[in-house]
Amino acid sequence: MERTLVLIKPDGVERNLIGEIIKRFEENGLKVANLRMVIPSREFVQAHYAVHKDKPFFNVLVDYLAEKRVVAIVLEGEDAVSRVRKIVGATDPSKAEKGTIRGDLGNDSKEKADAERRSIYNLVHASGTREEAEEEIKLWFEESEILE
Ligand code: AMP
Repeated sequence: MERTLVLIKPDGVERNLIGEIIKRFEENGLKVANLRMVIPSREFVQAHYAVHKDKPFFNVLVDYLAEKRVVAIVLEGEDAVSRVRKIVGATDPSKAEKGTIRGDLGNDSKEKADAERRSIYNLVHASGTREEAEEEIKLWFEESEILE
């Protein structure tokens, strides 16, 4: 059984899409193993996105999530990491396929984000690899909260 971390980002929380987003994972047979709402500090978001620290969009990415409501979810299932990425869709919602969360519910694009000098608002984060998933789960949840 594999686990992955999903974040419902501040635009997903603000737009009342928490239920709709979780429903899509549950309907695909993924199990919610844990879930919490958090208001992360800037330092915490910087730690979460450490892999992007040299990217030009790092600071605006931290602005997007820091000090706002975020829902952190551990999802469990066979091939959870890649299945969740498929359900989420491409980074740029205007390019994401229909049937994916970002393709169906996203309302932003890289062009708009660049013009407004901010991060792409794309509703969710999903771990990229199994290793990243384990690290991210450890960052967002206490060891005692994770059921083996
Ligand atoms: P991810 O690890 O998939 O959450 O990727 C980091 C996040 O950074 C993406 O989900 C977007 O919200 C944002 N992002 C990625 N690429 C860009 C970009 N070129 N410009 C602005 N924001 C970006």
